[in-house]
Amino acid sequence: MISINSIKNKILIFAILATLIPSTGLGLLSFWQNEAMLTDNVTHQLHTLAVDANRELEYWLEERIEEVRTLSTSNMVLNGLTHQPGASSNRSQTSQALPHYLRLVQDKLNPLLQLAVLNPSGKIVASSSATPAPVILPNPWSQSAIIDGIIIEPPHWNQSYHTTTLTLAVPVLSLENEILGALLAVIDLDTILPSLKYTAKLSPGDVLLVDLAGNPLLGTHHRDVAFTPIARQVLQRLRIETGKPLTFEGHLQNTVLGLALIPQTLPVIVVVERDRAEIYAAWSAFRNLFLALMGGLTLLVAIVAWRMGHSIVIPLERLTSAADHIAAGDLAIQLPVVRRDELGHLTEVFNQMTGNLQRSHDEFKAASQTLQKQNKLLETLSITDSLTDLYNRKKLDDILADQLARFKRNQRSFAILMLDIDRFKKLNDTYGHLAGDQVLASVARTLFSSIRNIDFAARYGGEEFVIVLPETTLSAARDMAERIRIQVHGATYQFNDQSIAVTLSIGVANSHSSDESADAVLARADQMLYEAKRSGRDRVHCTD
Ligand code: GH3
Ligand code: MG
Ligand code: MG
Repeated sequence: MISINSIKNKILIFAILATLIPSTGLGLLSFWQNEAMLTDNVTHQLHTLAVDANRELEYWLEERIEEVRTLSTSNMVLNGLTHQPGASSNRSQTSQALPHYLRLVQDKLNPLLQLAVLNPSGKIVASSSATPAPVILPNPWSQSAIIDGIIIEPPHWNQSYHTTTLTLAVPVLSLENEILGALLAVIDLDTILPSLKYTAKLSPGDVLLVDLAGNPLLGTHHRDVAFTPIARQVLQRLRIETGKPLTFEGHLQNTVLGLALIPQTLPVIVVVERDRAEIYAAWSAFRNLFLALMGGLTLLVAIVAWRMGHSIVIPLERLTSAADHIAAGDLAIQLPVVRRDELGHLTEVFNQMTGNLQRSHDEFKAASQTLQKQNKLLETLSITDSLTDLYNRKKLDDILADQLARFKRNQRSFAILMLDIDRFKKLNDTYGHLAGDQVLASVARTLFSSIRNIDFAARYGGEEFVIVLPETTLSAARDMAERIRIQVHGATYQFNDQSIAVTLSIGVANSHSSDESADAVLARADQMLYEAKRSGRDRVHCTD
């Protein structure tokens, strides 16, 4: 099923319709005109043929009548009828001479098959034939002979002569115009054939003579073919519509176009006809050629339209697919520009747009990464003490709150160490504030290197530090505090070629389940620190 929603199919359908509609229209118009012209032409030819054949028939008949008339006035015939048996002395002489004469004449005149002389009562007096066929004349024949001058028996197939015959009877009159008898001639109708064939050569078609019942008498066709009688209805129509061609089944059982003409002198019908297929053969060939050309043209147009549609749709499909990729975030896409038309331009613009989009995207990504780094830095700075690089007081508050919450959940207590440098004021006074700062930073590094990964070290304020030890018992915390104290006690810090030694006082406390806030733990550690200071400094004091 062809989808109308596709551009390719739309172009294809449009191209085929645009080709088919005008060419089919013109073709049909031309066929109708040609057919009408052809029919007119054939009608005219058939008409001419019919008229010519009829004229030939009438000439031929006139000649035959003339011959028989001339014979009827010959002395031999007159004498033969005047000297009827019983009325003449030399009867046997006459009875011998007349048939002989009739035979001679018949031999001379080719169309004549038999000549006979009849007496007024219609009996044969003499005949050219030794065994004359019986003659039936209309009754009373003499009456009609006087009126018409001639009697014509309708042509028919004569079994005696194996041909179609026409019988003419001409009255033989005395000098006083009395009817002495009749001269009867049986004529071979086939002798008209050459004339008819000649007319059929001048105007194309076949001539057929049929009797009034439609039975074929003779025709210009090949003799070998058996004629079939013309159907009664066809004959009736042909007789009514003389001069107008009709299509009917011809006597050779083929479909023919034909018309009929009824001669005035002879009781026959002249039918002229032409094979319909033969008439329209050239027209049919032309039509077939036209249809083949139309088919070829449509195919060609379809191929061109399909290729055209293809050449439009393929780049569009490529663009659509590329747009899908871009929508999915894949910006590294560039389409090949293979055309120099609008679609090629569109592809170029698309590539530029994609390139710009890619660059913007890269820039945005770089800016975003920088921003992320800066945010991270900012975040680190916001929780870091700038002098010691340990956590600041604010972060320490968060850590303690978090640890207290954990402790409330898992009941594993955390411990804190509160550390204060001993007699720092004096150190400042002795070595200066800058030296004090450096010592602060150095002690902080010592603290940081002494704790575990899970522990936190923060500057609590001035020269005080807090170390948070998650999930650590009080004794473990005390041990750690002691280790740190010893480490600092043993260390010396360099400033301007001077070695400075410091000690730490450390208060240790852990969380209690009754603690409402981390401040309670801090307060206990502070109390222990105070105790350590009071009892001489450079020592660790732990609750309990
Ligand atoms: P002790 O703790 O042993 O009782 O004696 P102390 O001298 O350390 O006592 P105190 O805590 O009263 O003094 C702390 C001094 O530390 C006061 C101040 O001048 C000094 N200090 C506080 N912060 C800083 C700092 O950031 N840099 C320097 N150089 N000195 C500081
Ligand atoms: Mg102090
Ligand atoms: Mg101090």
